[in-house]
Amino acid sequence: MELELSPLSLPSDNERPFVIAGPCSAETEEQVMTTALQLASKGCHMFRAGIWKPRTKPGGFEGNGEVALPWMEQVKKETGMLTATEVATPEHVELALKYGIDILWIGARTTANPFAVQAIADSLKGIDVPVLIKNPVNPDLELWIGALERINGAGIKRLGAIHRGFSSYDKKIYRNLPMWQIPIELSRRIPGLPIVNDPSHIGGRRDLIAPLCQQAMDLGMDGLIVESHCNPEKAWSDASQQVTPDILDFILSILVIRQETQTTENITALRKQIDEIDNSLIDILSKRMRISREIGQYKKEHSMTILQTARYSEILDKRGAQASLLGIDPECVKKIFESIHEESVNQQMKIINEA
Ligand code: PEP
Ligand code: MN
Repeated sequence: MELELSPLSLPSDNERPFVIAGPCSAETEEQVMTTALQLASKGCHMFRAGIWKPRTKPGGFEGNGEVALPWMEQVKKETGMLTATEVATPEHVELALKYGIDILWIGARTTANPFAVQAIADSLKGIDVPVLIKNPVNPDLELWIGALERINGAGIKRLGAIHRGFSSYDKKIYRNLPMWQIPIELSRRIPGLPIVNDPSHIGGRRDLIAPLCQQAMDLGMDGLIVESHCNPEKAWSDASQQVTPDILDFILSILVIRQETQTTENITALRKQIDEIDNSLIDILSKRMRISREIGQYKKEHSMTILQTARYSEILDKRGAQASLLGIDPECVKKIFESIHEESVNQQMKIINEA
């Protein structure tokens, strides 16, 4: 399905990404107002705060609900910032709009549930409000696109995606693995869709915010949504990943924003070379597949199994070691050979199963 988009038109300082900042949760009127005033004094144009919080386990702070919405109204009145919050049900949508919330976002847990997304979409029919859709918790691009299609299908054209990383069982550095290739592929599939990076939920740690923001900018993302709290250590949710408005301002001030379109002759010539190399890569791959099909024929005639595990491991190890010598990450090369091998096996299967 082709999406019908119009520009998000969110405020930003010239040539800079737009930034939505604010606490994970609206905890008290005082915390909301203090944080908002500090952010506004740093030149922030958009304020986020969670009113309804989907927590992993019961007992965590689940948000203040409707009582916190007048605080958001007050933020807008006193600072002029636009306000943004997460909605997970039609009732949330109705209340958020009633209190003049300017930007809605759909959380990662909600995006993973098509019933919930459809219910939200139905409640948005006939309303013109920007909606940002976080990636689902699991690394499933189609599910993310499906949610964008559902909301767009309801007539919402000011649409954007938020990249907040993906859950994994074994947590390493990140709280949620960035898997940058997924938002990059999303951009390729839906050209013109603004992508916002959420370094707070990817990193899960204050010290990862700055490098993640920079990475997002280097990949040409359009905006950032960052959790900022007047007293991060005392936050009622996501305490370890929030930064003060002061620190956020510093992080944003050192961000390097590179020109997206390079038109210098140098890079054009280099790109040509890359295109030629890619051409040869495909050519060589097709030759490799042809030989592999011949081997398939041989295996068929000699009643051998397709998968010869010893040979497969040998290829992976040998090419991994070779890559390493040439300064390429062996894990990356192993992945490439895994894919090549998978396709080889598919082609051989076809031959073996031919009558
Ligand atoms: C949030 O933005 O505070 C939040 C709950 O995010 P996510 O849906 O990405 O977990
Ligand atoms: Mn949070």
